[in-house]
Amino acid sequence: MMSAEGADGLRVTFWGVRGSIPTAGAEFARYGGNTACVEVRLGDRLFVIDAGSGIARLGKALLDDGTPHVDLLLSHLHLDHVVGLPFFKPALTPGRSVTIHCGNREGETAEAGLARLFSPPIFPVTLDQLPADVRHVGFRAGETLSFADGTRVDTHPLNHPQGATGYRFSHAGRTLCYLSDLEHDPAGPDPALVAFVRGADAVIYDAMFSEAEYCRCVGWGHSTWEAGTALADAAGIGQLILFHHDPRHDDAAMDAFAEAAVAARPGTVAAREGQTLVYPPA
Ligand SMILES: [Zn+2]
Ligand SMILES: [Zn+2]
Repeated sequence: MMSAEGADGLRVTFWGVRGSIPTAGAEFARYGGNTACVEVRLGDRLFVIDAGSGIARLGKALLDDGTPHVDLLLSHLHLDHVVGLPFFKPALTPGRSVTIHCGNREGETAEAGLARLFSPPIFPVTLDQLPADVRHVGFRAGETLSFADGTRVDTHPLNHPQGATGYRFSHAGRTLCYLSDLEHDPAGPDPALVAFVRGADAVIYDAMFSEAEYCRCVGWGHSTWEAGTALADAAGIGQLILFHHDPRHDDAAMDAFAEAAVAARPGTVAAREGQTLVYPPA
């Protein structure tokens, strides 16, 4: 349900904050174990970013509240960002519609990639057998997406194996960016990325590692909270939101991450599953 607070502004709710693999257990309960899924509301205009395991619970909520249509924006097709899609109830329900927007890779449309997931024996239902009206929109990262109601969403290519797309939403004088998954340049913030996020009120950022861990993970396609704070400072953003948590980081480790990041850049938060952040109209 839409709460009165922030109904006209920009709101983000985290349904999955974990990277790589869903992670269960009491020691992960406070930050949450589902993989990437974020609900963004521009006023009452809904976008869903990524279809990790967290999208299953969001799907039930959207079914229960009668939401007729969902625009789903995928950052890329790695399994932790699509594993929940076969269990997303709005796509499995006649009379509902879902449009899946995803940047195409060189030589293959995103729809063709998804069709390999929706394929026996991996999953018994193929994409064209889904009961809802499911449509696919491909684009090239860097283009601006335009929607029938006039909403526009900017995109940007991210440095990640097989590529990924960053998104930038603006509404009521507020701006939110989603940057997951990406690997930073150890030499410093990428000027093109700085330009893309410049002045944003909030940036959701792939902070899977600390710099101390990163040296063992170079080339995996992920970044650090330290690189996140450097980007945030260079681009003059408001709030940095750490995201795509390492499945090896339990709640105690996440607390330590968040504490270090807040000490370096006050106002930073580590996203928790179930958390809603509200940015009222500016
Ligand atoms: Zn990922
Ligand atoms: Zn990935």
